[in-house]
Amino acid sequence: MIGPKRSTYEAIVIGGGHNGLTAASYLARAGLATLVVERRDILGGCCVTEEIAPGCRASTTSYVASMLRPEVIRDLDLGSHGLRMVPCEPTLQVALPGKITIPWWSDNARTAAEIERFSKKDAESFLRVDAKLKKLARYLQPFFLEPPPDVGARGLAGLMELLRIAKRVHRISGSEIAELTAFLTGSLGDFLDRNYESEAVKALILANNVYGKHGGPYQNGTALGLLFHLLSGGDHDQQGFMGHVIGGMGSITGAMAAAARKLGVEMLTSAPVAKILASDGRARGVVLEDGREIEARIVVSNADPKRTFLGLLDAFELPEDFRRAIEGIKMAGPSAKVNMVLSEEPRVDGMPSDADPRRRALFTLVPSLEFAERCYDRAKLGEFPEELWVDCVVASNVDDSLAPEGKHIMTCFVQYVPYALAEGTWDENREELGNRVVKMIARQAPNVPNAIEARQVITPLDLERTYGLTEGNIFHGDLVLDQLFFMRPVAGWAQYRTPISGLYLCGAGTHPGGGVTGAPGYNAAHRILKDLKRH
Ligand SMILES: Cc1cc2nc3c(=O)[nH]c(=O)nc-3n(C[C@H](O)[C@H](O)[C@H](O)COP(=O)(O)OP(=O)(O)OC[C@H]3O[C@@H](n4cnc5c(N)ncnc54)[C@H](O)[C@@H]3O)c2cc1C
Repeated sequence: MIGPKRSTYEAIVIGGGHNGLTAASYLARAGLATLVVERRDILGGCCVTEEIAPGCRASTTSYVASMLRPEVIRDLDLGSHGLRMVPCEPTLQVALPGKITIPWWSDNARTAAEIERFSKKDAESFLRVDAKLKKLARYLQPFFLEPPPDVGARGLAGLMELLRIAKRVHRISGSEIAELTAFLTGSLGDFLDRNYESEAVKALILANNVYGKHGGPYQNGTALGLLFHLLSGGDHDQQGFMGHVIGGMGSITGAMAAAARKLGVEMLTSAPVAKILASDGRARGVVLEDGREIEARIVVSNADPKRTFLGLLDAFELPEDFRRAIEGIKMAGPSAKVNMVLSEEPRVDGMPSDADPRRRALFTLVPSLEFAERCYDRAKLGEFPEELWVDCVVASNVDDSLAPEGKHIMTCFVQYVPYALAEGTWDENREELGNRVVKMIARQAPNVPNAIEARQVITPLDLERTYGLTEGNIFHGDLVLDQLFFMRPVAGWAQYRTPISGLYLCGAGTHPGGGVTGAPGYNAAHRILKDLKRH
């Protein structure tokens, strides 16, 4: 690590994940001397491209761009810094037993035609429900890039808050409020059972939901994902956008880092922060693990709330009830990742012979709602299921920069594995997890096992140790109703501020939550700049 150029900055951002880089850029753009300190030797957090075998690179953690805010792309001019996304088309596809593949195209009518092969009634439901969901999602959209309602605001500030919310929702009808409430509180499983009759169609819609969440599809609150995935993203602000990022997800954070550098942000890697300096209730800077102190009047943490408040501050520096609330954040991550280099492309049973490379670039293995529920039941007891829900992306099909000719890169996200195993450790079970994933894939793509040239298995424990995600939670805290909106990260502290003056949070643990969106970083930076103006 090369040292920082100065001993004092106006703002220090702890963590160079995509939200930390976003926040740093907006702060520097407003004229603040800003430093980013990242514990790993690369920037990007869990939005990175890394070498998994000589000459072969993969999006080791996050793997598809869906809700990256167009405002962030434009403001930071990420396109000119090399960001290029190719829309996923289809946006997803399930591969089911019986040599069945069902793609979900961006064109609804085309998807309805695919669904009609299984049920005419479901095809009609799909069009009706999709239109309704898109309309409801549009009400939530504006809240993405602004702070959640400040329920503690009083007097004139309270009135302004009420007006802000009223402006956003005044067009919503009584029946839409009821529908929105049902989506926010209901279960995905019940919703699917009510609206669709074909198990294959239910599996298709399930496959677009619940990722990274703790809780089976019949758990209340899981229907929310239906709305979440219809928020817009990409260069053209398209609802339900999903994109392959050329060069892997690290191209997003690579472009963000380049934008930040251009704006004057300094960045240190291999520079873990050991402690946030605070005295008299004010943040003063940070102490690195190597003992160096760097001062700043603003400290912004991109680390998750538990890591920030329980790891980087002494207990006496925080109010007891706040600390207890942070301790209570539900975090246990239910996900793992397996990345592979293959000598040949997976040949998925049921894939039409004329399917183009983009269609062949993704397939999800989750045969039914019941299957998913069973996986969750095992995982919640600390077991990792024999059969797994696996979401595969063959990134090299759309991006030849990732591997030499003739080699293929497949990343596989695994849903419903426990962070805490009832028996044994993840280090003992890592290869078994990899074997089970391969076995699951082999059922639908039998050529895969013999084509594997390299395999990287990232367990929930690795997500914690390597990527700094407490309990392996990919969203810095479960996306459940009681941890969203003005309850994120904890009630009373949803405005990116903390009980320590000058210390802010800017990561996925804040509103609007996880995913590669840039929204928490954007919102936090705007909050800080407003506070500075006010003072
Ligand atoms: C396996 C996996 C798959 C995913 N798939 C997708 C997907 O396909 N699409 C999608 O949109 N989202 C996906 N996500 C979620 C998404 O990647 C995250 O929610 C998001 O990237 C979080 O960004 P962030 O900047 O808030 O935090 P992070 O990316 O976690 O960044 C935080 C940074 O802080 C650093 N840090 C922590 N503590 C310290 C310290 N003490 N000192 C210095 N630095 C520190 C960390 O090293 C890290 O770089 C996935 C995540 C994972 C893990």
